[in-house]
Amino acid sequence: MKSHGHFIDNQRIEGAGTRHLPVFDPALGVQTGVVSVATPDEVERAIAGAVAAFPAWAATPALRRARVMFKFKDLIEAHKDELAALITGEHGKVITDAAGEVVRGMEVVEFACGIPDALKGEYSRNVGTNVDSYSIRMPLGVVAGITPFNFPAMVPLWMFPVAIACGNCFILKVSEKVPSAALLLAELLKEAGLPAGVFSVVNGDREVVDALLTDRRIAAISFVGSTPIAEHIFTTASAHGKRVQALGGAKNHMVVMPDADLDQTVDALMGAAYGSAGERCMAISVAVAVGDIADPLVERLARAARALKIGPGVDREAEMGPLVSKEHKAKVLSYIDLGVTEGATLVVDGRGLTLQGHEDGYFVGPTLFDHVRPGMRIHSEEIFGPVLSVVREKSFDDAVAIINAHEFGNGTSIFTRDGDAARSFADQIEVGMVGINVPIPVPMAFHSFGGWKRSIFGDHGMHGREGVHFYTKLKTMTTRWPTGIRAGAEFAMPTMK
Ligand code: NAD
Repeated sequence: MKSHGHFIDNQRIEGAGTRHLPVFDPALGVQTGVVSVATPDEVERAIAGAVAAFPAWAATPALRRARVMFKFKDLIEAHKDELAALITGEHGKVITDAAGEVVRGMEVVEFACGIPDALKGEYSRNVGTNVDSYSIRMPLGVVAGITPFNFPAMVPLWMFPVAIACGNCFILKVSEKVPSAALLLAELLKEAGLPAGVFSVVNGDREVVDALLTDRRIAAISFVGSTPIAEHIFTTASAHGKRVQALGGAKNHMVVMPDADLDQTVDALMGAAYGSAGERCMAISVAVAVGDIADPLVERLARAARALKIGPGVDREAEMGPLVSKEHKAKVLSYIDLGVTEGATLVVDGRGLTLQGHEDGYFVGPTLFDHVRPGMRIHSEEIFGPVLSVVREKSFDDAVAIINAHEFGNGTSIFTRDGDAARSFADQIEVGMVGINVPIPVPMAFHSFGGWKRSIFGDHGMHGREGVHFYTKLKTMTTRWPTGIRAGAEFAMPTMK
């Protein structure tokens, strides 16, 4: 049984707390470790260490901070397989998907390597006669991040490389279900040369989060997780005077137009709906079939779903692994029951799946509903499992209307060969991240990630320019120099002029 403590002052420490939370291998359904919930003393050590480290780190030239990121990037690459194995062992996703997550996270480190350029300010000469003005971006101080179970490495990496490269100190509280990857990343940062106190990991649950949200020494909070918690984080941390970015849940629709290439669309939908067992905030959970493409689409999806290879994440042949926990599996199964009760047509039923040798694993098979309607809870609520709903609509306008009426606005996409439909979709859709013939439009590290509506609380997305703005504050100087040495020496007795 592995014991997961914390990483404070550049040291891995055993937790001294008396509260422990279990960590499971989802493919086997067995407990593999315990997370120690950080005590108030341990949280205090992390905050005090960060406060002490901040002045020197903020004063370190951006180029030198970037050099730490260059080394960190090399170390992530060298430990990619190890990180992926840790993710699969605790989250359950298939190993190739876990490796992909590491690469997407590493790309943010690559972005942070360019921080000297991103931090360059603005300068205006002669804003008034002999008056110049310039602005610079300063780090905030000590900032904290709270992350979800579904991306144990990538979501923390959305945050801390940018925060640290900007000159802040960062305290990370990862999901208690998946503690290992973040602790390894902390060790790699130390190996890359990061001074003690600049990055810490404190493990635990709500108790630890509340301590971070209310501490006056923490200047900003980044959060990614479910919408109710995101809203709680936003209101509590804002009330304590902090800058907050809190990204929440999602229900992402893909519009399939009558002219879409069916082979391409079905392949895209299979990956986007069932990849990572649907436990992605950018998963497509609703396909909106426009016109008479619905029948062939459902028929092909059903065939592909029945052929999907399900297995433990370590099996390189597997395309879909288990869900993260027993409780989450029960929740997803209850949504499938609910869909049937609500009157949707269950085309492929993922309930009752057992795998030989993995009878206690948290597997749910790919599930496909047809004739889902707005108003059904399986359409309005986030299920976060391998459940794809097909909604049938008559027109493009109807498809846009149901997406725009949804409370979430994280991601969406359209599959079509028609440029006009694609362009109108991009213009009209009230969603933060839009794919045109791209099923999961996750922006690259040098762009910013963030949804709209109740998928985000706060004004800034993660990484890219938005990330730099979130982790820095603007200072603008206006300068005027009186006539001085250039005017030459004066020999008369000085008097007021
Ligand atoms: P969660 O909201 O349950 O937990 C997220 C984090 O908050 C964890 O670190 C957890 O320990 C902490 N937490 C939980 N309850 C808390 C409470 N009452 N007070 C304070 N902190 C609390 O989310 P999850 O189940 O780990 O992750 C899945 C959710 O995350 C889904 O809703 C998914 O859509 C969302 N998500 C969103 C994005 C995005 O970019 N918008 C990305 C990934 C995941």
